[in-house]
Amino acid sequence: MFFMSQPLQFLLRADEMPAQWYNLNADFPEPLPPPLHPGTRQPVTPDLMTALFPESLVEQEMTPERHVEIPREVRDVYALYRPTPLLRAARLERALQTPAHIYYKYEGVSPGGSHKPNTAVPQAYYNKIAGTKRLATETGAGQWGASLAFACSVFGLECNIYMVKVSFNQKPYRKLLMQTYGATVHASPSQETEFGRKALAADPNCNGSLGMAISEAIEDTVKHPGTKYALGSVLNHVCLHQSIIGEEAIRQMELAGEEPDVIFGCAGGGSNFAGLAFPFVRRKIKEGKKTRIVAVEPASCPTLTEGELRYDFGDTAETTPLMMMYTLGHAFMPPSIHAGGLRYHGMAPMVSHCLKLGLIEAMAYPQLKVFKSAVLFARSEGIVPAPESSHAIAAAVDEAVRCREENRKRVIVIGLSGNGLLDLAAYDSYLSGHMHDTGNDNGD
Ligand SMILES: *Cc1c(COP(=O)(O)O)cnc(C)c1O
Repeated sequence: MFFMSQPLQFLLRADEMPAQWYNLNADFPEPLPPPLHPGTRQPVTPDLMTALFPESLVEQEMTPERHVEIPREVRDVYALYRPTPLLRAARLERALQTPAHIYYKYEGVSPGGSHKPNTAVPQAYYNKIAGTKRLATETGAGQWGASLAFACSVFGLECNIYMVKVSFNQKPYRKLLMQTYGATVHASPSQETEFGRKALAADPNCNGSLGMAISEAIEDTVKHPGTKYALGSVLNHVCLHQSIIGEEAIRQMELAGEEPDVIFGCAGGGSNFAGLAFPFVRRKIKEGKKTRIVAVEPASCPTLTEGELRYDFGDTAETTPLMMMYTLGHAFMPPSIHAGGLRYHGMAPMVSHCLKLGLIEAMAYPQLKVFKSAVLFARSEGIVPAPESSHAIAAAVDEAVRCREENRKRVIVIGLSGNGLLDLAAYDSYLSGHMHDTGNDNGD
């Protein structure tokens, strides 16, 4: 028998939920390069963005304020699942025979099972009070679509979703979840937009990509009156909304009485990573803390570790503003790996800027190693982690093993961005031995 000699859960009371989001743009030692108009190459003006987003969100995108008040109505919806737990992974430590202390901040308790409602809820709220009737968006693995569909159902908005075709087919349960919340879901590329029809004419078997689905959602938005667009990652206001994860985690690590030495988060567009990391980055900048903060991405979509830092489009059709970010190029077609939420050619400009300034590090992990750690985590902690989150777990496991080999105690924090209960087909592929390091088990 293994008896726990220490507490495992570090919970905040409902009234200890942070009342403000944190904006790292207020504290960067060097300002973030602005997004540029693709035609003029001049910094974009707010009026260009208000075609797609309500003014309140455009203001948050550009705000120099360090803290932004979380509206009462948003806090009331957050209260369905926040504050989220921080847990000590004592059984994982024991399985690894490591002197390291491993903690994880778990966002899988939300409706939809990931961190994405943290921004879907405020985005739907600000749209609702601005008079928007309908939101259009894209989704990769479906977590964003499900989160936005949930948020739209709360605030009474219509929701029209373009879902990357490979995930639409691989992950039917997420599509059903979106439909259950009342959303309309199209496999992208679709017949709904000119961009989609062209892509299908060029390649009827096109698997789609996040960049393509974004192009469809933007076209849908500008062609339908009363419709606005919502993006689940990458943008500054999304990173802002996600900061509640790290603000809670700082308080919870204080409850645990430990200082993190290294933090691992997975990075697709960068939002869950930003959410956990940025409040800790603030402490590096302002308090001189030495915390290592590491973004972990898939080896088959290695944006931060192998991409270039330059201005690039957020979508395939070249309709978005140019953003200064690490990118594999907006035409990059990632292989159909199971961590669908990490298949994006670019990276949040704020996360990219952190890497450029040396405030964070980046690593890439291949799929099989990620699932090996995911299964170990499930068997020791009980939670089946999302394939995306399992990238952070894999890096944390390697760190814990190094601690064992060097006989050093380190305090490790994992950003567990979601659960994998709707990703069991990916686990099937791994457990049955059909998974490869690139591509899925359909041979692509
Ligand atoms: C969408 C998703 C990600 C990747 O998106 P980011 O913007 O990089 O956070 C990671 N984990 C989970 C569980 C997701 O749903």
